[in-house]
Amino acid sequence: MSDYIVLVKQVPDVTQITDNAFDVETGTLVRSRLASVINELDSQALAFANEMRRISSDKAGKIIALTMGPPMAEEVLRYSLSRCADMVVLLTDRNLAGADTVATANPLAFAVRRIVKEILKGSKDYYVISGMQSVDGDTAQVPPQIAEELGLPCIAYVTKAEFKDKRFEFTRIISGGSQVVAAKKKPAVVTVAKYEFPLFATFAKARQANQIQIIRWGSDDIKASHIGVTGSKTSVIRVFPPGKSTRKCEKVDDAKSLARLIVDSFKSGNGEDAQGEETWTSRYVLPGKRTAKFERGFEGTKKENENYTFLADKLSELRITDTNQIDEACREKIIAVSEGHFRKKALDDMIKGFELTKPSYTGEVWGVAEHNEGRIHPATFELIGKARELADSLETKVGVAVAGYEIEPMAKDLITAGADNIYIIEDKLLSEFDPTAYRKAIADAINSYWPQIVLFAATPQGRMLAPMVSYRVGCGLTADCTGLDIRDSSRKGQIGILLQTRPALGGNVMATICTKNSKSQMATARPGVMKRLPVDESRKGKIIKHKVELTEDDVSLEILKTELGTGEVNFEADVIVSGGKGMQSRDNYERLVGLLCDGLSKRLDTQIERGASRAAVEQGFVERVHQVGQTGTSIGPKLYIALGISGAIQHMIGVANTDTIVAINSDPNAPIFKQCDYYIVGSVEDAIPQLVQALEVE
Ligand SMILES: Cc1cc2nc3c(=O)[nH]c(=O)nc-3n(C[C@H](O)[C@H](O)[C@H](O)COP(=O)(O)OP(=O)(O)OC[C@H]3O[C@@H](n4cnc5c(N)ncnc54)[C@H](O)[C@@H]3O)c2cc1C
Repeated sequence: MSDYIVLVKQVPDVTQITDNAFDVETGTLVRSRLASVINELDSQALAFANEMRRISSDKAGKIIALTMGPPMAEEVLRYSLSRCADMVVLLTDRNLAGADTVATANPLAFAVRRIVKEILKGSKDYYVISGMQSVDGDTAQVPPQIAEELGLPCIAYVTKAEFKDKRFEFTRIISGGSQVVAAKKKPAVVTVAKYEFPLFATFAKARQANQIQIIRWGSDDIKASHIGVTGSKTSVIRVFPPGKSTRKCEKVDDAKSLARLIVDSFKSGNGEDAQGEETWTSRYVLPGKRTAKFERGFEGTKKENENYTFLADKLSELRITDTNQIDEACREKIIAVSEGHFRKKALDDMIKGFELTKPSYTGEVWGVAEHNEGRIHPATFELIGKARELADSLETKVGVAVAGYEIEPMAKDLITAGADNIYIIEDKLLSEFDPTAYRKAIADAINSYWPQIVLFAATPQGRMLAPMVSYRVGCGLTADCTGLDIRDSSRKGQIGILLQTRPALGGNVMATICTKNSKSQMATARPGVMKRLPVDESRKGKIIKHKVELTEDDVSLEILKTELGTGEVNFEADVIVSGGKGMQSRDNYERLVGLLCDGLSKRLDTQIERGASRAAVEQGFVERVHQVGQTGTSIGPKLYIALGISGAIQHMIGVANTDTIVAINSDPNAPIFKQCDYYIVGSVEDAIPQLVQALEVE
């Protein structure tokens, strides 16, 4: 009999953002001004646990919902009780507030331990189920970190469970396709990526939910080792509004006008690159290499930079060239003319900061390579490009860690892409990606060499592996970064640190994050944002073989089936026409995508290829090899036409480098309309034949 501990979280409702939810001064979203709801994927996780209980015909299995949050998070527990939970636990304490993912996963894992001991009477037959990520944090790091703390297998990005031969088989999303796996042992952590069969509250259940007592625990009740701000391994140093989309987002009323815009933009090639990391204007130089001792133009925040510039100007006016010339009288003079720029303590800290030249971290800059069947994932080359830039600033080397079996031939491509040292961890047990075995291999290499920075690709694999590895080696981790830069925070005594910038709250704000209390700074980087370097055949590198002791026990999952895209597709074509779930059927996809491809090919006289969203592939409209996106192929054509595609982030990541994006969708509020250049609101059945006709005459 299996029991289920379902993690639920109360989150701000980012789908209903009103204007007054923004701070007028900073333009950032104020979380407290948004309504609170259950994280949608956690509500799907509840339904998923209920389904697991149903298909295993195990009526006695308990569903226990667990949340950590302020007292009002009780609402999501009542929600859970009114759907399917039998018991609920609220972990609430001021000391738990302000936590990053480590300081969230850690107390949750300790709470799971207590639930198992006291409620499940020490049973080992249970699953921890949660949504793959929450909309506010968007990190997907907490469940794998809970698995790491509890020493359990983690099965992430699950979309389906079946009960066969007395065990569960899970279908999960992987790069390039999907996979069916079973945990080799119980208990296990499962994260749900999609489960579209919601549970509803009956009147009786809703009434019952208000009568069941909530179990409340504070931090003393669970004795976690990392809690709140002090237990966190990252800290947010600034929050700012996202830059305006460089896409035109122009609504077009008729097919004729759209045809003209398509032809014009294709011919002139004047589209925009929408995506883009937040770039700094000048490349970082270590303080010891700067021409002037008081040059501090590389501080973490704009305000810190301004203060240093102001101070450097004043010191120059006073003809001071060394910090030991700055006596009390001089400090008072500066404070007097500072016009409130800073106070005495800040001045003292800045002067101390001038003495610092040694970087806070030492070691190489690493990327962790992802590969499948001997082919390196394109995102790995992007990591190397970024790692090269960071390492050059820090005057160190680029290392790449590769785990697998028979992987040495890949080293050459990694070196010509910009790496210096390739750390090969080879073992037959690493033939296929297993999160537990891979995390042991990579963590062991990190523990041996201690690079100062470790980057993973923010692919499903990287976003599962990185949290387990970083937790295991005791380091902070920032998810899905779109900007990575080296800067100082001299006043805090930090030189040459990695600033990690990422979207948060569903892309409504940007946050810059720093690592703390860690020997290495770790981040996952969004694919398609960092740039790969041109191949340099003349580059030389070193192969370093790193041996890690692995046994069968280190492999946590049995891989039962892997489905990957096969066949040929030419995504180098200038134009890609993609169909989504909105195409409704395979026939419609064939007919309408085919019709538009023919029309465009005649009019533009160029190669056209067919693409698809993951949902369209899963519906069987077209073969997997045509899938575009995070787990499909990332493309960068001159023209991308999205037909009946909603614009989910995992899809749009894959088309970020496109010149012009055109969308046709029947929903006037389709998210893709905020991420494209031209769009028509209308059904594909009506719009496509009209567009094809217009292309003939325009
Ligand atoms: C880890 C992970 C990785 C993923 N990787 C990818 C990936 O690589 N690529 C990818 O695409 N997705 C990926 N996804 C899935 C992604 O989150 C979305 O679920 C998917 O992109 C949705 O596809 P869609 O837009 O076709 O379907 P939906 O979101 O269902 O949208 C269908 C759209 O069609 C419109 N529509 C319906 N009928 C019509 C009509 N008659 N005419 C015009 N419009 C119509 C609707 O208004 C709607 O906007 C991933 C998800 C996860 C969790």
